[in-house]
Amino acid sequence: MYDLLVKNGKVVTSQSIDNVNIAVKDGVISAILAQDETVSAKKIIDADGKYVFAGAIDTHAHLNDPGYEWREDYKHGTMAAAIGGYTTIIDMPLQNEPALSNADIFDKKYQKVSPNAYTDYCFWGGLINGNFDDLKGLDEKGCVAFKSFIGPVSPDYSSLNYGQVYEAMQIIKEFDGRAGFHCEDFAMIKHQEARIKKENRLDWQGFLDSRPVISELVATMVIIELAKETGCKTHICHVSSPVVAQKIKEAQLEGYDITAETCSHYLSLTDKDVIEKGALLKCAPPLRSKEDVDKMWQYVADGTFSGIASDHSPCSYDEKFNEILGKKIENVFDVWGGISGIQSGFQVAFYEGCVKRNISPCALANAMSVKPAKTFGIYGRKGDIKIGFDADLLIVDKDKEWTITEDSLKYVNKISAFVGMKGKGLPVCTIIRGNVVAENGEIVAEKGYGQLIKKLK
Ligand SMILES: [Zn+2]
Repeated sequence: MYDLLVKNGKVVTSQSIDNVNIAVKDGVISAILAQDETVSAKKIIDADGKYVFAGAIDTHAHLNDPGYEWREDYKHGTMAAAIGGYTTIIDMPLQNEPALSNADIFDKKYQKVSPNAYTDYCFWGGLINGNFDDLKGLDEKGCVAFKSFIGPVSPDYSSLNYGQVYEAMQIIKEFDGRAGFHCEDFAMIKHQEARIKKENRLDWQGFLDSRPVISELVATMVIIELAKETGCKTHICHVSSPVVAQKIKEAQLEGYDITAETCSHYLSLTDKDVIEKGALLKCAPPLRSKEDVDKMWQYVADGTFSGIASDHSPCSYDEKFNEILGKKIENVFDVWGGISGIQSGFQVAFYEGCVKRNISPCALANAMSVKPAKTFGIYGRKGDIKIGFDADLLIVDKDKEWTITEDSLKYVNKISAFVGMKGKGLPVCTIIRGNVVAENGEIVAEKGYGQLIKKLK
């Protein structure tokens, strides 16, 4: 007797789409069966006419907990993730108080967030100026990668210069970890910003011009060269441009373990949207042209990306429109940069890719489940529909039409660049370790069901 049988669905893996049933026992996939085979199970879910994907993995989310729960917290952030189809989220170490920079803070963060998670979750470790001696300890705790900036981000999270990156990569390589980077060349964007402010171009076009593709490309190229030199496994965060994706692909073809993610917003929204709609669409790197968005999909299709992340980077309404931490917003450069998208990431990618652009659902499964799990060292447990893997499944009604509304969002702050977007194809049931966690836009599991997932050794 199985615990759960998901029957009659079209099961999507990175390799094929098969009409098979999935049987689950003790939270793991225990059999993949022909659809005419009769077996008994305590619970049966009929997925007739629907796709069944492995649960998506969000490689880049900022849940801001502990410390900035008024922006987002584990309860709301993982609720939204579960409804949207991310069954495991990989949470960033910054916009936390304190930032996750040593093993002791790892334990404290775990204590704080574990009672509140609905999805499974991994921790990115901090990689800052001053914690190089703590990296190995964070790896031993189970951090799946280490996040760094090469330009200032926030007062509590120091950035690295290229020399420090070189040293850190040598350390991380020693324990076979993965370093991850926000790639925008700081000197270039600061100079651009100063130039544009001097010209008094304080509008959204001014903001877009302050962070050109070339600054992302220059930083990415330096990081790629440092990764090649040191042999450190390296991940490029939130790639916004096909020019950058091409350089990463070339390094991959040369045989280097250099991975990258893009985000649902770089695969759907454009620079024109920033100019039309403003603050809610501000993020870094910024949104690019319509042609770039189309080209980015080629790199999803060909497997360059290990992740279509949300880069869920929430803030309050005031931080987009009035003031940030007591400082009045005077122009576009002061506005909070970040897009809330953890609830809509999968449906936006499915619609923009599989429905609008005829990308194979298999490519989506590869980019959102298989490759993220492999990149972050949790494959074998997460990321695929295979016997012995956690039964993390996502049932998608490919014909269901949707409109994203503020009311439907589970975030602490119900604001998002995606509000108003319409599409087709919606996650209708999210299963984590064999239990239904979300169904038809609502949570049905107990708070605290989500588990910490450590890098597999
Ligand atoms: Zn981020």
